[in-house]
Amino acid sequence: MRPLSPEFRAYAWAPSTEELARRAGLDASQIVRFDGNVPPLPLPSSRPATVARALAHVNEYPHGGYPELIAAIAAYAGVEPENVVLGNGADDLILLVTRAFAGDGDTVAIANDPTYPLYRVAAGLVGATIGDDDPVLTFCCRPNNPTGSLDPLPAARPLAVDEAYLEFSEDDGVAASIEEGVIAIRTFSKAFALAGARVGYALASADVAAELNTRQAPLAVATPSAALALAALAAPPDPRPTIEERERLAEELRKLGFEPLPSRTNFLYVPVDDPGEVAARLLARGCVPRVYEDAIRITVRDREDDDLLLAALAGTDAPAGRSARHLRATAETALRVRLRLDGASRVRVATGAGLYDHFLEQLAFNAGLDLELQGAGDAETGPHHTAEDSAIALGEALDRALGTRSGIARYGDAVVPMDDALARAAVDLGGRRASVIRLEHDPGLAKHVLQSLADAGRLCIHVESTGEDPHHVAEAAFKATGRALRAALRQDGSLVPSTKGIL
Ligand code: PMP
Repeated sequence: MRPLSPEFRAYAWAPSTEELARRAGLDASQIVRFDGNVPPLPLPSSRPATVARALAHVNEYPHGGYPELIAAIAAYAGVEPENVVLGNGADDLILLVTRAFAGDGDTVAIANDPTYPLYRVAAGLVGATIGDDDPVLTFCCRPNNPTGSLDPLPAARPLAVDEAYLEFSEDDGVAASIEEGVIAIRTFSKAFALAGARVGYALASADVAAELNTRQAPLAVATPSAALALAALAAPPDPRPTIEERERLAEELRKLGFEPLPSRTNFLYVPVDDPGEVAARLLARGCVPRVYEDAIRITVRDREDDDLLLAALAGTDAPAGRSARHLRATAETALRVRLRLDGASRVRVATGAGLYDHFLEQLAFNAGLDLELQGAGDAETGPHHTAEDSAIALGEALDRALGTRSGIARYGDAVVPMDDALARAAVDLGGRRASVIRLEHDPGLAKHVLQSLADAGRLCIHVESTGEDPHHVAEAAFKATGRALRAALRQDGSLVPSTKGIL
């Protein structure tokens, strides 16, 4: 084998979530990763139905490649299809561009320090050295990882500009400069939330793109991944909420005395005196930052997760313990739940099953829960799978958050009128599953959803609701169940709420 330079260091991956959980003495579901610079959730388009066709043909090669995906990328980036080179993530294109331009004994320049380590790895793999003296290729990460800065473009050519975080930068990037010796490298891993699918692309002048394609592996992208990327491009994500959350997080960090660098990405570089110690403190609370010599790097997730990190950094008490994070993924749906029992009725249910999202929101709101239930299901088959799985996911999260169920009131009941409708509900959190649901009218799945919740949550729910309007009858039933749950969830000492002494 051709030897590598003795100084060569392979790309180093962070430990797995399971390994970090083991080190922290936590359950893997309690680990929140702030070290990957990826969004907290997949896009709604990333669901089993999107890859179903690809799976039906997974025995075949995609003869002819991916002209549809290449055309969609070209349209998204404002270039022509002959300017696009596909790759197995941006990393693959960094390796491809490096081996296309550089070889043994050549010099490759890297614009920023610190920056993304793979340029150095790629140069080392082809036997090139790093330096600024007459480089055959210059890499520039823009905006830069890990600092988040959007620096002026170097004058050197040929220039490979890694635009992995472009969508968060509110900048046009370098696609307009590809006729001037510039190659843009981009990815679906960041804004498009497809890091696991491994799809990236380069944009270059037609002749450079043709040379790169000549040197690329025959099919660098897998068919399910190509299907996911194509579906994502049909409705590109809006980066603005992440940008707003980044600014909020930076402001909150400043209030704590930190000085995060200005960022044009979905992460913040935060200088600290002892990054290892800070990271250890964060890990004890389930939060995983990326550690640098003199800083930690924090991925911007969303308000709830970021507040967890802020509380851990501040050393303030963790939010009350009765909470759960839960993922339920089946062939029909993928749903994520964040639940806090002692909440303030901050509720968001968004699965696409409109009416039942609304009903579950009513239930959680009236129960006083903090609930985020997000995801997507096979809506083309109707709301059944999604509504049912939402109730199951919520029930499983409730069960998990309730833990041993000691110290709770256990029983609760409520009567809730709603215009023409009147609902009475009683719940028992003793751990035995039962549901007696009598709705005078059902807009469709209301009874089934309540039953599914009782079953998955090991709850006993009795509800009776009468009235004329099916929507009101059902909504009153969910509200009354929520109210009854609120009473039953109340913390009431530490005793097991049963004369048997066990639940
Ligand atoms: N470039 C930069 C600057 C990155 O931060 C990353 C991922 N961390 C990549 C490229 C790799 O992207 P991909 O997942 O598309 O290989």
